[in-house]
Amino acid sequence: MDFYPMYIGGRWVEARSGQRFTSVNPATGQILGEVALGDREDVQAAVEAARDAFDAWRRTPAPRRGEILFRAAELLKRRKEELARELTQEMGKVLTEARGDVQEAIDMTYYMAGEGRRLFGETVPAEMPDKFAMAVREPIGVVGAITPWNFPIAIPSWKIMPALVSGNTVVFKPASDTPILAHRLVEILDEAGVPPGVVNLVYGPGGTVGDAILAHPDVPVITFTGSNEAGVHVNTVAASLLKRVHLELGGKNAIIVMDDADLDLAVEGIVWSAFGTSGQRCTAASRVLAHRAIKDRLVTRLVERIRRLRLGDGLEPDTDVGPVINSQALERIHGYVEWARREGATVATGGRKVDEGPLARGFFYEPTLLVDVRPEMRVAQEEIFGPVTAVIEVGSLEEAIRVNNQVRYGLSSSIYTRDVNGAFRAMRDLMTGLVYVNHGTIGAEVHLPFGGMRQTGNGHREAGRAAIDFYTEWKSVYVDFSGRLQRAQIDIPQPSS
Ligand code: NAP
Repeated sequence: MDFYPMYIGGRWVEARSGQRFTSVNPATGQILGEVALGDREDVQAAVEAARDAFDAWRRTPAPRRGEILFRAAELLKRRKEELARELTQEMGKVLTEARGDVQEAIDMTYYMAGEGRRLFGETVPAEMPDKFAMAVREPIGVVGAITPWNFPIAIPSWKIMPALVSGNTVVFKPASDTPILAHRLVEILDEAGVPPGVVNLVYGPGGTVGDAILAHPDVPVITFTGSNEAGVHVNTVAASLLKRVHLELGGKNAIIVMDDADLDLAVEGIVWSAFGTSGQRCTAASRVLAHRAIKDRLVTRLVERIRRLRLGDGLEPDTDVGPVINSQALERIHGYVEWARREGATVATGGRKVDEGPLARGFFYEPTLLVDVRPEMRVAQEEIFGPVTAVIEVGSLEEAIRVNNQVRYGLSSSIYTRDVNGAFRAMRDLMTGLVYVNHGTIGAEVHLPFGGMRQTGNGHREAGRAAIDFYTEWKSVYVDFSGRLQRAQIDIPQPSS
């Protein structure tokens, strides 16, 4: 059986304890490999390696750092198909979506390679004669990157590449459900020429390995993507140590369908936003806010379309929707549907765990459409993170925007309409970090900021120049080339009063 060691100080190593765990294919239950099970001692070694490597890396010219990332992007591109297949096996999403996951990593890596020749600072006029004033970006130190399983190569790249090009070093703890893809990413960074200690990889449970990174005094920066429950814990621990923290948390995203919408477009947008990646995207559309005038027609068409979706192993070419990540997720998703039924919602289609035939060995849930849902129901408020979406009837654009904004999350939203005035009002008033017009709630481009408002995050953003803002801090520099003592009150003529 294949074994996946950790990567510390430029060496592939067993866990100090010698313990291992397994990675499992959620479609088949097949064990894919054994993985080193890290603990606090491994984190200590990884942080020491990252701390020791920091000085040389921050002084490596940024364009040289960018060139290493460019080589990593080329390797990712060359290995795209092989990585996508492994990703489908380990995480479950269908192969076309797995290719998209790898492509996001490629795009981000090229983009951040280019940032090596930008990393723009500021120059401004100085107050005094013969003086130069500027602000430059500085790396901060060791970045602790803790990532989820749903984008097992894209999300780590979204964190690691901007951290590296900015001159930081990294200790990376991936989700325990997807260690193999993390291994592949670090393998590529190693092959691309990232020096020893600059990136370190430690696997293991969030409660021990994650916590040890959070609490380590030599890790001043934490970037975390995951659930709100864990995010609150991350923020609490980091706050007591005055760390810089970036949180990307859950979503409860809605698609508004107005009475003048193109329903063909809307149906496709809803289906792929709700059921792509089996609904396990932070940007998944788990609410459909349908205008009263078209709601019944929309529901009929959605039910017909959803029933044609084929559930199965994501490697099979005719599969539309793959498994969910594990048995706990399957039970949680079904629990939400049962709860919705008790609260008065109706299951228009789906609503069942699938455990017959070849699907019996995996974790499959039928794509599910709930109707008769009211905005205050649990299923309309809480993140389900599975292939379930709920239709809520609304009577106007104002009501749709109000219902959209009545959840604690603020990641993504979308509106289908042909009314340009309504679309602009929605763009202004929807309280989400991403807004789409005549497009589903999913699909981000790496050169724009990505992240959520309100309790989806804490105000920082991934991607684009916004990511560089998080991984650097400002140093303001004044150069006096007058060759004499200058003091503002004496040397600058003051206006007479
Ligand atoms: P999770 O259970 O919170 O885990 C995320 C990561 O945190 C994993 O590496 C996990 O390790 C680790 N972790 C768990 N408890 C920890 C602790 N006490 N201290 C430190 N680390 C800890 O979330 P998930 O189930 O992997 O991911 C799904 C969630 O992520 C959803 O809520 C989704 O919306 C959110 N998400 C948000 C975005 C965004 O951009 N806003 C993107 C993707 C996903 P283990 O795997 O070992 O438990």
